Amino acid sequence: MRRGGLLFASVFGIMLSAAVMVQGVVMENNKVIKKVPTTHKVVALTIDDGPHYKTTPQVLAVLREKKVKLTLFILGQNAAAHPEILAEAVADGHEIATHAYSHNLLNKMDKKAIGEEFDKAEKVITAVAPKPILFRPPGGAYNETVLAEAQVRGYTTILWSIDPGDWRRPSVSHVVDGVVNQVEPGSIVLLHDGQYPLPTPEALGIIIDKLREQGYSIVTVSELLQYYEVRN
Ligand SMILES: [Zn+2]
Repeated sequence: MRRGGLLFASVFGIMLSAAVMVQGVVMENNKVIKKVPTTHKVVALTIDDGPHYKTTPQVLAVLREKKVKLTLFILGQNAAAHPEILAEAVADGHEIATHAYSHNLLNKMDKKAIGEEFDKAEKVITAVAPKPILFRPPGGAYNETVLAEAQVRGYTTILWSIDPGDWRRPSVSHVVDGVVNQVEPGSIVLLHDGQYPLPTPEALGIIIDKLREQGYSIVTVSELLQYYEVRN
């Protein structure tokens, strides 16, 4: 599975270069993916900042009930605190990605400190999970040095196209509407499980039902990347 992932990552890299050459600009930055151009009704729900001892088990329970696998951007220091919850997510078949270690903004650090953030996170994550191939910078904050350090470690940098602001603790319906009213093929949705309480676990179940009613399949980010369409 990991070997397939690596093969896919290099194939995707070639596709991406081709897309950039043919179309000029397909993304704001060709090293960062915010959404995937596709005509297929697929969407990736992603969850950042866990594992949290209360919120993450709630999220995992919803995903089990709905039979959905998604991508979790794991914060290294939280994985160090709760490796058993990360192991549960792995056992459930979710894609484990890295969100660096401390959640301090990487674009404010020098190259050495950025490297340490990646390496410390990778060490605790790979103690219980396969080595991630995807990375999301804390706060979505990056610069060329951050992207270069991600790239040399084999990570593709993933941002998002839909942010319902769940971490500000709005109502469940605000989070649900924020997603289902904006969704389109190839969307990447940003959600969180790093605090308690959050409206996210309850909203997640409703979002999954509503997206399915609209004919969407919910996939991991790695799966979503396979729907990337290059068109002239
Ligand atoms: Zn975060």
